[in-house]
Amino acid sequence: MKFLCIDCDAQMSYEERSQPGDGTFAAAFSCPTCGRRIAMLANPMETQLVSSLGVQIGGRVLDEQPMELVRTIVDGRPDAFHDDVAEPTRPVWSTGAVERLSRVPSFVRGMVKRIYTDYAVERGIADITPDVMDRARSDLGLEEM
Ligand SMILES: [Zn+2]
Repeated sequence: MKFLCIDCDAQMSYEERSQPGDGTFAAAFSCPTCGRRIAMLANPMETQLVSSLGVQIGGRVLDEQPMELVRTIVDGRPDAFHDDVAEPTRPVWSTGAVERLSRVPSFVRGMVKRIYTDYAVERGIADITPDVMDRARSDLGLEEM
């Protein structure tokens, strides 16, 4: 993960980071040319996703988090990005579930949606509701999502 200063077209250098312990993550970067500073903040879920994908921030891989299943989904399934494989029991997302999914940061929404979809498919659940999402979170140990 790199940040560029648009004005200078220079790569911003990493300044400091902090993990307050509540699962959130913050890092500061500054432009070596004009001195502009930016900060990146991640909530616990984003922090886990970034860690489990092995993305380096500030030159260091974050501590391993118990969300290795994301890596499994991304690396281990050749069909992970093809939704049109034969799946007769495709669960339907309820309005409330879609609404809740829409609050997930867009860059991870597809992965999160797949986690819940796979959970429902494996258990023969036809409708994904906020209630099902709650159960999936606790069953899969994703309490912070
Ligand atoms: Zn700059």
